[in-house]
Amino acid sequence: MRYEGSVYRPPSEAGSLIIQLTIGCARNNCTFCAMFKDKKFRVRKLEDVVEDLLMARKYYSRIKVRRIFLADGDALIVKTPDLLYIIEKIKEIFPEVERISAYGAPADILFKTDEELKTLREAGLEMIYMGIESGDDQVLKDVKKGATSAEMIEAGLKLKRAGMVSSMTLISGLGGRKRLVEHAINSAKVISAIKPEYVGFLTLMVEPGTELYTDWRAGKFELLGPYEVLEEMKLFIENVDSEGTVFRANHASNYVPLKGTFNQDNEYMLRQITAAQKAGNFRPEIFRGI
Ligand code: SF4
Repeated sequence: MRYEGSVYRPPSEAGSLIIQLTIGCARNNCTFCAMFKDKKFRVRKLEDVVEDLLMARKYYSRIKVRRIFLADGDALIVKTPDLLYIIEKIKEIFPEVERISAYGAPADILFKTDEELKTLREAGLEMIYMGIESGDDQVLKDVKKGATSAEMIEAGLKLKRAGMVSSMTLISGLGGRKRLVEHAINSAKVISAIKPEYVGFLTLMVEPGTELYTDWRAGKFELLGPYEVLEEMKLFIENVDSEGTVFRANHASNYVPLKGTFNQDNEYMLRQITAAQKAGNFRPEIFRGI
């Protein structure tokens, strides 16, 4: 197998074969993100991607590959005919594959027509991970996400209309102390409007080399402590209405692991948060990671 630079994938794709369809992120502008800072974005040559698939097949000749994740940052930016070609090749080379997934930036989802997304879904692209980060427009502007909450909702609903499974990621603490309330409540509004299949929360960790890190060091951005992160999470859960959505906040960056299904487990998760706050039972900083 060959990979260019560091490769990232959602936590739930830990067991998937990762194939780089693009290198880096076409936007690479978010103030909190250090993932692809070292890469200049490009779409890879399709023949190179197919070569990777063939190499992987040789490597996994006796192992069934059930899941394939198309990396890097936003595979949905690739032209639909090229994506369809790669999906076709995946199915030819890995006939046993059960799920193909990728990251999708809101702008790329909105750029594709309903028909294109439906065709991709029917061809086998089943799941899209979209980074919402925050449902608050001021926070989205501050972190230079390049999309508004209305566009996030539109993109999420578009995935639904195409029959795709969607997993949305948000970041606790992204609004700092100033936007804690708005970040929580407006994020709940966006999720309630989309009602995706999955929602995941990471907790902000400022990474050297990012604009947000510089702002934090300069005192322009205030990081939340664990107690405040949980206050924010409480507000989010109290305001979200997304029946049946599987919720996970059990990433290494989170101070308290939480998981459940909206809305049935909301009360239970709120009690867990209160208990953790009372006991001061938070993951120590040295054990947190991205
Ligand atoms: S958060 Fe996503 S869109 Fe923003 S720079 Fe990182 S990979 Fe690109």
